[in-house]
Amino acid sequence: MNKKENILNLLYSELVDYLQGLREKTYRATQIFEWIYQKGAWTFDEMKNLPNEFRDKLKQKYQIKPFQIIKKQISQDGTTKFLFQLEDGEKIETVLIPSSKRTTICLSTQAGCKFGCNFCASGIGGWQRDLSTAEILMQVLHAKEEAKNHKNPLSHLVYMGVGEPFDNFKNMMKSIRIINDKKGLNVGARRITVSTCGIIPKIKEFAKEGLQVELSISLHGYDNESRNILMPVNRKYPFHELMEACREYVKETNRQITFEYILIKDVTCTERAAQALKRAFKGIICKMNLIPYNSVSEFDYFAPSRQEIYNFQNRLEAIGIHATLRMPRGQDVLAACGQLRYK
Ligand code: SF4
Repeated sequence: MNKKENILNLLYSELVDYLQGLREKTYRATQIFEWIYQKGAWTFDEMKNLPNEFRDKLKQKYQIKPFQIIKKQISQDGTTKFLFQLEDGEKIETVLIPSSKRTTICLSTQAGCKFGCNFCASGIGGWQRDLSTAEILMQVLHAKEEAKNHKNPLSHLVYMGVGEPFDNFKNMMKSIRIINDKKGLNVGARRITVSTCGIIPKIKEFAKEGLQVELSISLHGYDNESRNILMPVNRKYPFHELMEACREYVKETNRQITFEYILIKDVTCTERAAQALKRAFKGIICKMNLIPYNSVSEFDYFAPSRQEIYNFQNRLEAIGIHATLRMPRGQDVLAACGQLRYK
């Protein structure tokens, strides 16, 4: 028997093409998209405004396959971490982060990660495979359902979970188009953030996509030497070339970049680091998110004290760098930045 395709892999235009091939009315594509992405249907049988015969045709070719939820952990602060099992047995983690104003999902784009940043749990077990567009979107559908238990519906998406989004560029971009599509999940591009560890060719490609999606760079080091130690990807795409690519990105898109920056005691929050960052950010419209290091047992680093964190933030502000402190969420269930992995 032929393996059925996952209908979540299709853009709206691809679904229209399929329907035209069947000589079906193209408005059926809108109905199917609405059922899946807006009304939360998990089966074709729930799509009551589609004729039975047509539903049968769909079922023969396509499937909608919810993940098996192996574990759902809820942190004291309400952050919810899912461990999902994929069809081939691979496992991924996804985090839902509710707050008083919004509910955000942190999405994974790969099973495992090949980039091995030396503070991040996600790279320790290596890379297994890329996620399909459907597997990226299915995380959103599960999270949307879960968000019904919170004050605010799911409104923001960050591609910052396990894996490097730009290393799975095609599937990631397709998922963004469906999330952003008015007939799909209808989430405004500015509510979507993609984070990269610094894959320069893909930063250039992303600039040409013409979307208003936010770009975030996982910087974490303040110069070439410090970044070489913390992020092996820096040996391929060195610090100064990354900064140049960021300058070009800002010039081409006229958009601001956010730099994610981990605060490790005595390593990344020193006066030397502040001065180096000032030089590096020259000519880049940007802001910084400061992320106090979240403990991972394999690494010998420590988070700075609260006073050290505030001192560094004030120092950056004093030299003209706008820096926001991102306090950890979901630490007690290992759902905070850099802690995701399947153990
Ligand atoms: S920080 Fe990102 S790129 Fe680096 S190991 Fe973790 S998931 Fe991979």
